[in-house]
Amino acid sequence: MDLRFLIRDIPDFPKPGIFFRDITTLLRDPVGLRYTIDCLAQKFTAAGLNADYVIGIESRGFIIGAPLAYKLQTGFVPVRKPGKLPSLVYSVEYELEYGTDRLEVHQDALEPRSRVLIVDDLIATGGTASATAKLMKQIGCELVGFGFVIELQDLQGRKQLPDVPIVTLVEY
Ligand code: AMP
Repeated sequence: MDLRFLIRDIPDFPKPGIFFRDITTLLRDPVGLRYTIDCLAQKFTAAGLNADYVIGIESRGFIIGAPLAYKLQTGFVPVRKPGKLPSLVYSVEYELEYGTDRLEVHQDALEPRSRVLIVDDLIATGGTASATAKLMKQIGCELVGFGFVIELQDLQGRKQLPDVPIVTLVEY
């Protein structure tokens, strides 16, 4: 199944020059959605990547990460934008094109040495996923891999990531 047919391309969103890969058209397709989650799970399992938790990055990482965790029979832990999580958090700051941003996770969400898989819908420059990996390291978790539905290869985001297996389904 070629997921490219279900992913919609929107030029100049959210700002001029960005070619947005819209997965809402994939998510609304019953066969496409099931195939996406099943394929990611199958690739992780085939690579022997057993985890205790799937870590989903706000917000499209939640949509992919939660059913993936269900399928892999792991827990799911959200990594969120600043100020969204109600209890004590660890946070990590990372560079954007202009300025910085922050990601947070609950301090009691993960035990040190937990095995974690980081999941998002798409990897572009790799900044978001790499910051999430730093957050996991700060807690003392063992990062076993990354999973993305889409990889924008020209941006070479995977070069920013630690040397663990990376599972992707569609490359542009
Ligand atoms: P990056 O940190 O540059 O790897 O950006 C990854 C994050 O930004 C992911 O959460 C994506 O959902 C979002 N993103 C970046 N570029 C695009 C794009 N061209 N289309 C859709 N989402 C994008």
